Amino acid sequence: MKFKNIIDISWPITEHMTEYKNQKSIACTDLATFEQDKYRKSILRLSSHTGTHVDAPSHFLEQGKTIDQVSLGSLVGSCRVLDLTAVQEKITRQDLEKYDICADQIILLKTKNSFCQPTDLFNPNFIYIEEAAARYLADCKIKAIGIDYLGIERNQPGHETHDVLLRNDIGLIEGLRFAHVEPGNYFLCCLPIAVQGLDGAPARAILLEI
Ligand SMILES: [Zn+2]
Repeated sequence: MKFKNIIDISWPITEHMTEYKNQKSIACTDLATFEQDKYRKSILRLSSHTGTHVDAPSHFLEQGKTIDQVSLGSLVGSCRVLDLTAVQEKITRQDLEKYDICADQIILLKTKNSFCQPTDLFNPNFIYIEEAAARYLADCKIKAIGIDYLGIERNQPGHETHDVLLRNDIGLIEGLRFAHVEPGNYFLCCLPIAVQGLDGAPARAILLEI
């Protein structure tokens, strides 16, 4: 496949990066230093939902698949970045109905979340997907959905948005960054690290400009 450009849409991982509800889960310590050992090696502590990551169904479903059981086929392929930067609070069904969303598409949502700095404190008022919009995406039978914040819902007691998407086996990518991305068609490669049995895993995500 020929492509013009690789666009990194991953959230840079640092000890100072934004974390969900400001939970302090990230630490990077030396295992070997150049000064002492003449080589460098580090220990990295992350949450399963640090930065750009994929949620596995087991995040909210008792019998759900774990991240190693999630099909990579749902996270790699042609995708559409939709411009939802005008949305002020939450993405509704009406916001999505304007687009011709079809089965097997990978849909990535560029919202004003993308314009926060990667090290800002957690913003509890981030743009999220409301339940009816999640149901619409499930009815459309899309392959995967991606959003540009560390969550896809906000304090829903039954986690309905997650529940609908995960029950319908829709790939769920959180923590993407689109400030530098024009809405349009691309090829997505998002590969969660291969940790066995976890409820999610950090991923590197790139768009290929075709
Ligand atoms: Zn998550």
